[in-house]
Amino acid sequence: MLKYLSFITLIMVVFIITTIAAVTPLVDSNMSLEEALKDSKAPKNILDSQCIVSVKYISFDGKLHQGQLIVNIAVKADIEEIFKIILKAKFPISKVIPIVKYDWLDEVSMDDDNTSAFNFRFVANTTRLSNHARGKAIDINPYENPAVYSDGKISPNGAKYNVSKPGTIKANSFIVKEFLKRGWRWGGNFTSLKDYQHFDKE
Ligand SMILES: [Zn+2]
Repeated sequence: MLKYLSFITLIMVVFIITTIAAVTPLVDSNMSLEEALKDSKAPKNILDSQCIVSVKYISFDGKLHQGQLIVNIAVKADIEEIFKIILKAKFPISKVIPIVKYDWLDEVSMDDDNTSAFNFRFVANTTRLSNHARGKAIDINPYENPAVYSDGKISPNGAKYNVSKPGTIKANSFIVKEFLKRGWRWGGNFTSLKDYQHFDKE
């Protein structure tokens, strides 16, 4: 009888541990807002308009992860709502870490397939401030969703846009629909280049 009871106890313990493991996210990022904005070149009024959003997502390992985005306070609700929908759909997101971790270098963050939003920088190859500079743009899974320029150059290097791969955003994706209906633009609809990872709001 005692043996039987201890077997039941063991099963219960295993069940509880498995359940906790399934709902406890792996933490990819856990910064304070101050840490996430450290050494940014942005002026004070822009820094003061940023906030930190904690997001949960299923990564390519099939596990629940938790990361963080720095976004303009004005788009916080949109981002929270859309990431809840992304999680519910189990659409894989590689990782979500504020770009300070990559010394504010977009190329390095993209190479690591990192999803990020705020970065006080110019549009690539221009002297025009990007909507990322105001925290009103986000790049999702850059490796699956590269920027494809009219001359054929692809960023990040070595990436391929293949709509049959998990984590890829295509024109009929629910993600595109969710952003568009909240007044965002999708870079896949740009005519100058195709920036499949990019969404922004004016
Ligand atoms: Zn972008």
